Amino acid sequence: MKKLLLINPRNFLKEGLLKYEFSNFPPLGLGIIAALTPDDWEIEILDENFDKFEFKEADLVGFTAFTSNAYRAYELAGIYKEAGITTVMGGIHATMMWAEALQYMDVVVKGEAESVWHQVIKDFEEGNLKKTYEGPRLKADKIPTARHDLFHPRYAFSTIQTTRGCPWRCDFCTVHAFNGTAYRQRPVEAVLDEIESTTGKLLFFVDDNLIGYSKNSEKRTIELLKGMKERGMNREWFTQASINISDNDEILQLMADTNCKMVLVGIETEKMEGLEETNKSLNQQVGVNNYNSIFKKLHSYGIGVLGTFIFALDTDSADDLRARGKWIIDSNVDAYQTSVLTPFPGTGTYRKFVAEDRIKFNNFPEDWQRMRFFENVIHPGKMTHEELNEVLDEVWGEMFDGKTIINKFRMTLKETRDASTALWTMVTNSNYGNTIFEGRKYFDPNPIFNSVPNKLFPKSMIK
Ligand code: SF4
Repeated sequence: MKKLLLINPRNFLKEGLLKYEFSNFPPLGLGIIAALTPDDWEIEILDENFDKFEFKEADLVGFTAFTSNAYRAYELAGIYKEAGITTVMGGIHATMMWAEALQYMDVVVKGEAESVWHQVIKDFEEGNLKKTYEGPRLKADKIPTARHDLFHPRYAFSTIQTTRGCPWRCDFCTVHAFNGTAYRQRPVEAVLDEIESTTGKLLFFVDDNLIGYSKNSEKRTIELLKGMKERGMNREWFTQASINISDNDEILQLMADTNCKMVLVGIETEKMEGLEETNKSLNQQVGVNNYNSIFKKLHSYGIGVLGTFIFALDTDSADDLRARGKWIIDSNVDAYQTSVLTPFPGTGTYRKFVAEDRIKFNNFPEDWQRMRFFENVIHPGKMTHEELNEVLDEVWGEMFDGKTIINKFRMTLKETRDASTALWTMVTNSNYGNTIFEGRKYFDPNPIFNSVPNKLFPKSMIK
């Protein structure tokens, strides 16, 4: 039997987030690739979120990676190439930076790899592999059920994707470039069956927007949630949705009935100028003054809001960032994901920052590791790189202070009257705080970073 080894590489700079099972999610793409691999292949997933890397024999080794863990993928690929084992890489970073990836991998699959995986396997078996493959976007009913049985048993969450694509074009986001602007919805029954095949204590619908962008897509969400209710699914769950989710009471009620505890909503900024800069159209239509009443509406259904916020947009001054931190603390948002504006390959932000030579750390591929949301990698628009570090230390220090997190917990408990929801949001804030504080020691100009690669990949890890 031939063996396929699929590797989920780790970014060791994300220690704070990787420490906890609650803040890690299984590599769904690898589970889908496994599902599409013929039965006469043995398949194993080596997941560095939990497993220490050790060399394993295989006929073919596949990697997936976001930008932040691409460097680690390249490093591990080097070990396999040296051993004469064929390596292949897919995923968003390989798609956007395929020429770079080809320097480290034998084969790169661009786009949605599952649509061409059968061809990669066939060509490998026939000794006829090409350097690159390009996967056209699959119709939603062709997206297969992932092999959840291969994921590490320590994951608290099972992940399910029910839709792909987004018609909006926010400047900092890769979704429309990678998954396209058409919103593709998987058949409800297939999704429900897939949920039943999972065993995680908790569920995460990884869709970028569970409710979609039309009345019809909202109808599909209602069908899905009704199906969950009818099948007696009651695991606590979490998802991502656009801010107008608060408009549909039927959806909110069904979310509450099926035990939804938290929804990630892209807020980005409380400043209209910043929403215009990033092309965040929907939030502009909703209006920043309505954010708090929207959060409160979700609370009335016992659901917490995890708001995502970007720091250091080009229109942000240092005082704007201080004001953003204060706004978040005083607002009714329950949990907050704070990131520094990061120019990920494939985004308009990346093209702009490259054109203006404003990426401070551009020793790629090593510096891709720094692109993990919480590290300042840019020359911002209205302050120096160093001033931004100082203001982030000050503002995030206050936002993730134990007292602030406890106050947020109290607010969530009071508003939702749901202890479990309050706990979800508190653990989320603590996890982000850990990530930021533990990652802080790598901030430039602290020279520790320069010694990190050696510390991260000691020889003893590579048996
Ligand atoms: S941030 Fe959200 S709304 Fe904007 S393009 Fe990305 S997925 Fe779509």
